[in-house]
Parts: sequence; C-alpha cells; structure tokens
Amino acid sequence: MTQKEKLVLVGNGMAGVNAVEHLLKLTPDKYEVTIFGSEPHPNYNRILLSYVLSGDSKVEDIVIHPYEWYTNNHITLHTNQTVTQIDTTAQTVTSDKGLTVSYDKLILATGSNPFMIPMPGADKEGVMAYRTIRDCEIMIESAKKYKKAIVIGGGLLGLEAARGFLNLGMQVDVVHIVDTIMERQLDRTASKMLQAALEEQGINFLLAKQSAEIVGDKRVTGLKFKDGTVAEADLIVMAVGIRPNVELARNSGVECNPGIVVNDYLQTSVPNVYAVGECAMHRGIAYGLVAPLYEQGAVLAKHLAGVETGPYEGSILYTKLKVSGVDVFSGGKFVDAEGTKAIRIHDEFTGVYKKVVIQDNKIIGAVLFGDTADGTRLMQMIREETDVSAMAKTSILTDSSSGEGSASGVAEMKEDAIICGCNGVTKGTICSAIKEQGLTTVDEVKNCTTASRSCGGCKPLVSDLLAFTLGASYDKNAVKESICGCTDHTRDEVVEAIREKGLSHVREVMNVLSWHNEEGCSKCRPALNYYLGMVSPSTYQDDSTSRFVNERMHANIQKDGTYSVVPRIYGGVTNPTELKRIAEVAEQFKVPTVKFTGGQRLDLLGVKKEDLTAMWEALDMPSGYAYGKALRTVKTCVGETFCRFGTGDAMAVGIELEKRFERLNTPAKVKLAVSGCPRNCAESGIKDLGVVSVDGGWELYAGGNGGVKVRVGDLLTTVKTEQEIIEYTEAYLQYYRETGKYGERTSEWVHRLGVEHIRDVVENEEERKQLCTRMDLALSVTQDPWRQAIDSKKIQRDLYEVVEL
Ligand SMILES: Cc1cc2nc3c(=O)[nH]c(=O)nc-3n(C[C@H](O)[C@H](O)[C@H](O)COP(=O)(O)OP(=O)(O)OC[C@H]3O[C@@H](n4cnc5c(N)ncnc54)[C@H](O)[C@@H]3O)c2cc1C
Ligand code: SF4
Ligand code: SF4
Repeated sequence: MTQKEKLVLVGNGMAGVNAVEHLLKLTPDKYEVTIFGSEPHPNYNRILLSYVLSGDSKVEDIVIHPYEWYTNNHITLHTNQTVTQIDTTAQTVTSDKGLTVSYDKLILATGSNPFMIPMPGADKEGVMAYRTIRDCEIMIESAKKYKKAIVIGGGLLGLEAARGFLNLGMQVDVVHIVDTIMERQLDRTASKMLQAALEEQGINFLLAKQSAEIVGDKRVTGLKFKDGTVAEADLIVMAVGIRPNVELARNSGVECNPGIVVNDYLQTSVPNVYAVGECAMHRGIAYGLVAPLYEQGAVLAKHLAGVETGPYEGSILYTKLKVSGVDVFSGGKFVDAEGTKAIRIHDEFTGVYKKVVIQDNKIIGAVLFGDTADGTRLMQMIREETDVSAMAKTSILTDSSSGEGSASGVAEMKEDAIICGCNGVTKGTICSAIKEQGLTTVDEVKNCTTASRSCGGCKPLVSDLLAFTLGASYDKNAVKESICGCTDHTRDEVVEAIREKGLSHVREVMNVLSWHNEEGCSKCRPALNYYLGMVSPSTYQDDSTSRFVNERMHANIQKDGTYSVVPRIYGGVTNPTELKRIAEVAEQFKVPTVKFTGGQRLDLLGVKKEDLTAMWEALDMPSGYAYGKALRTVKTCVGETFCRFGTGDAMAVGIELEKRFERLNTPAKVKLAVSGCPRNCAESGIKDLGVVSVDGGWELYAGGNGGVKVRVGDLLTTVKTEQEIIEYTEAYLQYYRETGKYGERTSEWVHRLGVEHIRDVVENEEERKQLCTRMDLALSVTQDPWRQAIDSKKIQRDLYEVVEL
C-alpha cells in the first residue's frame, strides 16, 4: 500500500473546507487530512449568520459539514485550536495547545479579521464586530437587555446586521461615511431605492457622518460624530471592512502584501504551502465573497489532486443582499464611465430598477433592484463576454412581470454555471438531482442540493430549472411558499388549521403544526398573532410580545430614540378647540417639532418615552395608529362643502369611514382617501381604497399605493349612495383581512388576486353581507390602546417607565 501524503489545513472555514471537499471527491485516498480551526464548531456557513441573528435559523441549521462528515472522510479535526507556528523547513505546524503535526502539503485558509476603527472609546464594553457565531450570540444576548444599536458601515454586512437587530426588537441606526449605502455595489438610484425600502422596514440612516468617538464610562452609551452631534447607543457594531488574517503566515516567512501572496495555482512564496480564501491575495485582490473563494478552491483541489486544470485568473464579483423583502443584485463594473453605454428600466410603479452597462458591445456590469431574476443570466454574459451587437438591446433585460415563460434563459446556461453562489451549486448538480432523485418542487431541490438555502434569491432560477428538466409535468403554481423558515406550512394552511382545530395561542399554533423552531421568529410570530385575531376577533387575547416594537409601544420610535405622537383627526378635519389643546399639550411637554403628516394629521415629534402616557391623557384624543398595521388615515379634500367643482361631500364621507374603521387590524397598514370630484385632490388613486365622487355616484379604487412601489388603484366598482360606500368598503377590507398575507399591502394583494375576482366577491350581495357581518364583529371588540395605557398602571410600568440599567 502506498503511503498517503499528509495534508494540513489551517482554518476550518468556508474556503478551506470547500477545497478539501473537492479534493476528496477527486482523490479520496491520496491524502491523510488534518484540519485546525480556532472556532469551537465544525465548518459552518458564515453567510447564513444573518439568519441566526434574525432568529430565522439556529446554529445547527447553518452547519455545512457536521462532525460525522469529518469522521466519514477520515479527517482529523482539531477545533478550538489555533495554529501559532509553521516550520517551513521541517514542514510542521504547531498549535496553541502544543500539538505539532507534520505536512507534505499545507493550506492556509485563515480568513479575515474584521477591521475595527481605532477611534477613542473603541475598547468599551458593547463595541464589537460581526463575524462569528460567538459575535452573533453576543448580539442576541445584548438585545434582551439593551434597546438601541448602532451599526457603523452601510455595506452588505452592516445592513444585514441592522436588519437582524430590528428583528431582535432593537432600534437601529446605520451610520455611513458617504451619503449612499452599498456604494461599492450600487449606483445612486438603486442605493436610494434600497435606503427607502429599508427605512420603511424601520432602519434609520445617519449618512455622510464621520464617527469621532465612542462615548460612555465602562460601557458604550453613544457615538459622537466629527460634526459634534451624538447618537445614543447601548451596542455598537463595526462593519466597516475586513483585513486578511496573515499573522501566522507572515511570522512564518510566507510573503504577504497585504494578503498571503498566491499565484494562479494558489501557491505561496514557500514550497508546498498554499493559501485560499479571504486570507489570499491573488493578482493584487483579496476577495471577500464566497463565490470567488469557491472558484479558487476548485483550482487548488485539482492542482493538489494532480488533475489537469487551467489557472485561476481572478473572479468577477457579484452580490445579492439577503435582507428580507428587498431584492438587490449587482455584478461587474456597473458605474457609467467614458466609453460605456447603459440600458435602464426604472418602473416607479412596481419599484423595479434595472441597469446594464455595455462597453465595446459587451455587457460589463449590471445593477438590479426589485426584480433580480436576470442576475445569473447577466453574470454569465459578463463572464463569457457575450457580443450583444446583434441583440435587440431591449431584450437584454426581461420584463418578468409580463409573466411570460422563463426569463432567465436557464436552457442556454452551461452545466457548470453557478446557480446558487453562496452554496456553490451548479446547474448540472441541480438538473442531475432533479432527474436522479425525482425532485418536483423548489423545496425538494433546496433540501437535496442546498441551492437557495440562503436568501432564496435564486429560487426563480431553480424553479426555471425544474420547468426546463421536467417539462410540462412541472406545475410552478403548485410550489408551496411557507410563511417563514420556521415551518413548511403556507399562510392558507396555517389559517385553515387555526379555524379547524380551534387554535387560540401563538405557541399553540407552533406546537400543533410542529414548527421547526419552537420560539418562532420575527416573521411568523406577528403573522400568527394577526391570523389568530382575524379568525376569532371576539375571543382572541392579543399577544403583544409578538408585535413589533412600534406597535407594542403604540407610538413610532424615531431615529434619536424619542417617539412621535399622532392623535386621530377624523378625515383631517379639526376645530379651534382641538387645535388649541394640541398646541397646549405640545407646549406643556416641550415638543420640539409639530408637523403636518402626508395624511393630513399633526405629528408631535421628539417625545420622551416616559412622557407618552401623560401626554396622551392630556390630549384626550384617540390614537391615530401612525405606527400600526391598521387603518392609518382617511385623507379628504373639501368636497362640495366649499369647492366649486365638488359633487360629493368628501369630508363627511371621510370622517364616517375613519370613525367606522379606526383601530381595525389589517394585514398591513391601510390608507384611505375621499375626493369630491375626479380632480382627485385627496390623491384617491394611490390609496389602499380611494373614493371619488363622480356624476350620479362614487367610484371606488382598490389597491393603490404611493409608497416605495407606486401603484395606481384599479377601479373596483361604482356605487350610488354614501351608505353603499361604507358597505362596499367593509366588504373589501374584510376580504383583505381574511385573504391577505400578513405584511402584504393591498397593492400586492389586488395584484395577486386580481381586481376582477375581488369585484366579483364584493358585488355578490350574499357574500358582501356576510363579510360585513364579520367586519361588525371585528370592530365590536376594538379598544383605544392609548386609553388602555392611561388606565393601566401595569402597562405604564412595563412599557413606559425608564429603567436605569
Ligand atoms: C455575517 C456575514 C454575512 C456574509 N454574507 C455573505 C454573502 O451573502 N455572500 C457572500 O458571498 N459572502 C458573504 N460573507 C463573506 C463570507 O462569509 C466570507 O467570504 C467567507 O466565509 C470567507 O471564507 P474563508 O474560509 O476565507 O474564511 P472564514 O470562513 O472566516 O474561515 C477562516 C477560519 O479560520 C480560522 N482560523 C484563522 N486563523 C487560524 C489559525 N491560526 N488556526 C486555526 N484556525 C484559524 C478562523 O477562526 C475561521 O474560522 C458574509 C460574511 C459574514 C460575516
Ligand atoms: S441562496 Fe442563491 S440567491 Fe441567495 S445568496 Fe445564495 S446564491 Fe444568492
Ligand atoms: S377633488 Fe374636486 S371637489 Fe375636491 S377639492 Fe379637488 S376639485 Fe374640489
């Protein structure tokens, strides 16, 4: 028997272990492998840490290679052990625990260290990086005690950390040195769209801000900027960049500049020593994303296996953001420059932006926002330097909203085209798995191959591959979409189970339906709370711990940690007494800013948490629900009462609608408007329900939206009387409550169900009456949360007292 060569890998991370896995597939018997890792875990997917942080995954879910994998492959693994010395002459490595192992071939895959800005106060308690499972655990623990986080760095990592903090119920500011986020991956337009989408989710941005000092005694209390302003914080995460971890290599005489210098076969300056991953510097570049590291690993594995391979010549970078609800892709050189031309689609109605940059008839870069289905196909064209001179330029970008066939062009992709970059899964692997394992759904492909196990951004491609491989037998619509990663159940299955089994608590639903994650997450818990309340309005006890922080507090938290108070002003119509009272309360509580909102209400901004209940009592007005998934406002014009053109009493109808539906819980926020004539001064065309007076009656418009994704409402129906407006609105809103997915705005819901279907339902007298009856029941039990807080010492103590920590 021939003696096996000894291969030692330093660094049990993504790049190194991936290279070893490839190598073992190519030549299972050539090497006796030993792996050292500083962390106390088997190899895990660092990319998915953000899901652990956000509560969508557990640590065990993100393990790529469990301990059995090492055993089964006869690999000796030393976790929790750092290699501190390499003797490149004797060819041995020694660990901090005194273990010395000899090697014939050595791979350094030591990754990176997060860069910590060396500013005053950076050593205080509560200042940290975001890189490892340990960091994640500290952040999760901190969120139980503290409420205000700052993330320094508006790049990919910073935004994911910020989203994680939101999910953990913390307020979060993202501080960034320039005035656009992810500026290395996005152009200005896409960056601003992303910022707006994230602001909508609750992240606050402090842009063009230079951090100067971290303030606090032992523990951080805030971040001071060069302009003298200070933002409060109990926790600061620096996500400003990484530095290749080269200490071990440098101390052992391996050339570093600044990463470990490698050639096209990943060889370092020292014989038999290789480097791969973020620690390596190839042609002057150290990559910080997984796809290039896997490309390096594939070349290294072949080289070590003695299999013929072409050189590694560098990678073209592409990025996808893994923040829920936001689809962003960028790849190649996307910035306009001399000699480049661009094709752009910017659909402000659907919030989609696409830009493809072309130079010398070749695509060199792309930015996609809102619809990223084209990403993989464009990346392939960039890599292959496809000549586009003969192509119709408009066909380079597809319009996926047209619903026509596969837009992604999977059929033309090569077998080795990477479909899921973070898990390194190719078209060939997916197609073979579909054929050999008889897979028929995206979820089955995910479980079998790990493709789309991360953000799921490549799901459309996986779906296209199923259609391509299975042909007509593949039913795309049969694909189940679970409400979150904690369960395989869809929204409809969950609601049906609540109804059928008479479930009455969030935890009961999770138990009975065998949730994978018994605590649930920030996506499913609020959704379950809503569905339970919707199904049994008169008996369900609202679970405030399953609500987002603004809804728990019944006030919007603002970026400086203060709150805003928006009393209800029905139909936007007020009077001097009410105004005087608002003014007096604003003076009494030293409210720094009073502002008219976009919905014709008064926003009292800058209120301290401990003042909230006293202020609500002094105002003696109901909550305006400016924070809730509920009816926000009914905007009106002056209508026939004052306007020369008015044919309908917009103010009276608006007031009646608002009084009828205030406090109603809905799947997402709902805004209404009433205009006295088709001139539409109340902007009824872009509201969840817009009412417009026309000759002889009123038109009702459904599913409009003026937010990030602007959508003009569809004409739902025309009614004659004001009484009918109320009746149809009741039926429409109740149907939305009963069939909408939690978090789904009416604009998306109307698009999904089709306005014709909703019209059929509300115009059917029988169904309409039944919906109205159920709406009556839902409305009969609502209570004003401000009044409840004023009347309950317990609520005041639990939520609004400031506790010194
Ligand atoms: C939260 C987060 C989200 C991310 N999201 C994405 C994403 O969406 N897409 C993407 O492409 N990339 C993403 N990345 C980047 C990606 O995770 C890294 O590029 C990748 O993990 C680097 O792999 P590596 O093996 O080079 O380094 P690592 O995975 O860091 O592995 C290096 C390992 O070596 C160990 N080590 C170091 N020195 C020694 C020593 N002397 N002895 C023993 N062990 C040692 C370290 O402890 C570490 O475990 C993300 C990173 C983070 C932190
Ligand atoms: S799962 Fe797919 S889409 Fe998501 S990051 Fe990985 S490669 Fe990209
Ligand atoms: S919508 Fe018509 S009625 Fe209302 S203010 Fe404008 S012009 Fe006047």
